[in-house]
Amino acid sequence: MMNRVIPLSDEQATLTLGTRVAQACEGATVIYLFGDLGAGKTTFSRGFLQALGHVGNVKSPTYTLVEPYTLDKLTVYHFDLYRLADPEELEFMGIRDYFTDDAICLIEWPQQGAGVLPEPDLRIYIDYQTQGREARIQAASASGEALLARLATPQG
Ligand code: ADP
Ligand code: MG
Repeated sequence: MMNRVIPLSDEQATLTLGTRVAQACEGATVIYLFGDLGAGKTTFSRGFLQALGHVGNVKSPTYTLVEPYTLDKLTVYHFDLYRLADPEELEFMGIRDYFTDDAICLIEWPQQGAGVLPEPDLRIYIDYQTQGREARIQAASASGEALLARLATPQG
């Protein structure tokens, strides 16, 4: 599977990566976001959502677990599963209703939902560096491979 490593020198670079990935999404997409607290998962999600027309704040839905964003062409569900005690809670939330044909799901702390979450199209790992961060993007499905190939193409 394809892999890309992208240096993120500052917060703006993380926002821009979110924008680029959003612009490369075509149709339903599931993206797992890995990284320690403060790595930049929510920052990435903010860049992603604003690129698709969301105006305003984006906060980690730490207590509600999921925040829906109804945008022009699609719905984005932003999950933060940090406080999920048991993956089975996702079943009680009706998790399947979120993974529809016209939805994009961004999932922080996906390891908390292991065994219940659907498989992703992309896995994005954000790691602390001495300065800034580094993102590693891994395609995890055929549509994730295509997405990553579009991302690799210089934007016009
Ligand atoms: P997470 O959701 O992973 O816990 P947040 O996105 O909420 O992290 O917070 C990340 C923090 O790090 C914010 O203060 C943001 O300004 C900062 N940040 C984001 N990307 C970078 C980067 N590439 N380099 C340095 N700081 C960053
Ligand atoms: Mg967060």
